Amino acid sequence: MTAPVLQVAGLSVEYGTRAGPAFAVTDVSFAVAPGRRLGLVGESGSGKSTTVLALMRLLRQGRIAAGSARLEGRELTALPDAAFRAIRFARMALVPQGAMSSLNPVLRIAEQIGDLYEDHGVRHGRAERRAAIGSLLGRVGLGAEVQDRFPHQLSGGMKQRVCIAMAIALGPALILADEPTSALDVMVQKQVMATLGRVQADTGAGLVLIGHDMALMAHFVDDLGVMYAGRIVEKGPVRRLFAAPRHPYTRMLVDSLPSFRLRGVFRGIPGVAPTLLARIEGCPFHPRCPMALARCRTEAPVLRPALDEGGHVAACHRAEEVAA
Ligand code: SF4
Repeated sequence: MTAPVLQVAGLSVEYGTRAGPAFAVTDVSFAVAPGRRLGLVGESGSGKSTTVLALMRLLRQGRIAAGSARLEGRELTALPDAAFRAIRFARMALVPQGAMSSLNPVLRIAEQIGDLYEDHGVRHGRAERRAAIGSLLGRVGLGAEVQDRFPHQLSGGMKQRVCIAMAIALGPALILADEPTSALDVMVQKQVMATLGRVQADTGAGLVLIGHDMALMAHFVDDLGVMYAGRIVEKGPVRRLFAAPRHPYTRMLVDSLPSFRLRGVFRGIPGVAPTLLARIEGCPFHPRCPMALARCRTEAPVLRPALDEGGHVAACHRAEEVAA
């Protein structure tokens, strides 16, 4: 079996707030193999973006409170800042949520990609640098002339492709994509995801895709982790999670997708996600769960294999009864 490029074990992340620590991510574990795509899905505040920003060491106020994250066998949480900067983008790259706010508005694209090369010791002559950047932009479907433009001269989809180009510029082993199409219209979303999928397949990198769009996940990823209140409540091969979810929250997410079969019926998820300012007793989903039992209020379920194994695990006392 191929060794995972990323192995996260028991990761917990906290934010300091005036009201005390907010437990944004609690005891999260997952692994990504080279060439595989893992999706992390959940509502706003479920901890999915915090997880990848913590891995990239890009959290402004949050801190990793516990756990381990190994990239190509190397422990990230203990790495000194200088060593971490050397692997960021070189071995593990981020495609950010908002290309508009990620690109520097006063620098041409060539300068921004050039800075990335310079920061990692990639030296080129002038003509060679132009050719390298032109070729890189070509890999994401952009013309070489785009390097002479400022971000405001590009459409949203073009800017996001530039961010993808920057993510693959140094040939990383892992790409973290944090809702890369959230600000784009549907047609452009499709094109950008096709570009991301193509370059990921070309490079053989592992990929973690953060999002809340279950339909997009169904088409794009191999494995899926469902996050709720900072925890992974179910994970496994994406087809198994859609065909036979074992956690009521996953079941409700799948059922909330528009369907030709159920015309006119829209099934949302009632209630709101819990505050992260207090440790939740019992199952974090119990106030919203239609299947909750008395024990769910006091006894926290742990991830355990679902009936049909195959790497499918769910954290629910009634996993076996969650209907397909
Ligand atoms: Fe619902 Fe109980 Fe399962 Fe939590 S453990 S998801 S409250 S049935």
